[in-house]
Amino acid sequence: MTPSPSLYLSTRGGTRPVGFADAVMMGLATDGGLLLPAAFPRVSPKTLEEWSRLSYPQLALEVMAPFVGEDFSREELRELVERSYATFDTPDVVPVSPMGKSGLFVAELYHGPTLAFKDIALQFLGNLFQAILRKRGGALNILGATSGDTGSAAIHGVRGKEGIQIFIMYPEGRVSPLQERQMATVDDPNVHCLAIQGTFDDGQRVLKEVFNDLPFKEAKRLGAVNSVNWARILAQVVYYFWGAFQVRRQTGNPDALLQVCVPTGNFGDIFAGFVAMSMGAPIRRLLLATNENDILSRFFRTGVYRRGEVHPTLSPSMDIQVASNFERYLYYRLGEDPARVKAAMEGFAAGLPIQVEGEDPRFAAGRGDTAMTLETIREFWTRHQVLLDPHGAVGVAVALQNPLEGAVTLCLETAHPGKFPAAIAQALGDGSLATHPALEKLKSLPLRKSLLPPTKEAVEAFMAERIP
Ligand SMILES: *Cc1c(COP(=O)(O)O)cnc(C)c1O
Repeated sequence: MTPSPSLYLSTRGGTRPVGFADAVMMGLATDGGLLLPAAFPRVSPKTLEEWSRLSYPQLALEVMAPFVGEDFSREELRELVERSYATFDTPDVVPVSPMGKSGLFVAELYHGPTLAFKDIALQFLGNLFQAILRKRGGALNILGATSGDTGSAAIHGVRGKEGIQIFIMYPEGRVSPLQERQMATVDDPNVHCLAIQGTFDDGQRVLKEVFNDLPFKEAKRLGAVNSVNWARILAQVVYYFWGAFQVRRQTGNPDALLQVCVPTGNFGDIFAGFVAMSMGAPIRRLLLATNENDILSRFFRTGVYRRGEVHPTLSPSMDIQVASNFERYLYYRLGEDPARVKAAMEGFAAGLPIQVEGEDPRFAAGRGDTAMTLETIREFWTRHQVLLDPHGAVGVAVALQNPLEGAVTLCLETAHPGKFPAAIAQALGDGSLATHPALEKLKSLPLRKSLLPPTKEAVEAFMAERIP
């Protein structure tokens, strides 16, 4: 077999190679590992030069095509990509601009329907699921549990899609009113919001129990919108190329050195940056930023991956101690040897740390705590008239502390500040600065949700009534 970017293998070596559409439908590899393309295409300087003149959707088509292979024609893929990014509120999809006079640049990843960067992947994934089901027949019933943001991006990715229903559980009374509105005001009949009378952990437990009920899972064709789905990573690779091109154009320096700073939780976003660099994107270094939940920044500074406790912070989407996509990167750090990955991950599951040798010059890392987050929001608002959301602010705080000699730093801003009025109020004494018309509009819409007890039986009965 010649290694090809459109053949997918498990990091743990226990699956036969599968094509793109199978990889998307599989999500997690059947041996418990994560799927990776057998090779990365290398992009020549001449191609980079051509790509730098494309629109965002045109660029997305070029970046994705080699990984998609024969499963979709170029025309089909073009149509999918165009439809996925037409729902964004700007034709640039990801606007890039200088951040006041700070010397930093920002890429705004929040112009999709739910105002957070997960839309970039989930708008595409929703269309992709639908397209695969059309080719192959059948239906898909997605079940997820959310503590907030992922649920709404997933709902907006599949709302109104033929052949797909989505059931999202969230803890009743424990997500912010805004987050609940982003989910429960969606009125498409294929969307079901399950307000669970319990905690987020109850939702997670019920989710596991339902997926472990194999007869139910098969009969009801259950699927997940897993953060480990390869298509989610792929969609995110695009804006690393895009961001680099925009910075070069805006600085007027076609050879500008670039560092990209990424507020990180599950390592999905920054892994997409790693893929872009492996393909030849003109990026010198990725700067990984965590909040107090710093397992990843500790790893890049010490070479040891060791679990810590989860601390709730102002940047909840980064409150993660075990990063589900880290295994993909580990595969490359362990010499692309699935046996070593499998041993390391099994040891980790049993409570052992993972240790790697040497350093990777493509990465640097830092940690921004709550005080730094608040201070950065204040400083960027008063000095630069830029309103950051708390996730982006963690990144900016880390970027200010870790400049790269001779390089420009591009910070990824992963959510619109209007989604986090309480954090903005804490920083500035006034949360009313953080508004967005799309969020205001939700306030007058009725909620559509079903209250359920936190049990597998209740959730399965609810689903069974609605799945033909
Ligand atoms: C999910 C999320 C992140 C973290 O991204 P990962 O891919 O999990 O590293 C950062 N910011 C926001 C707003 C998010 O929703």
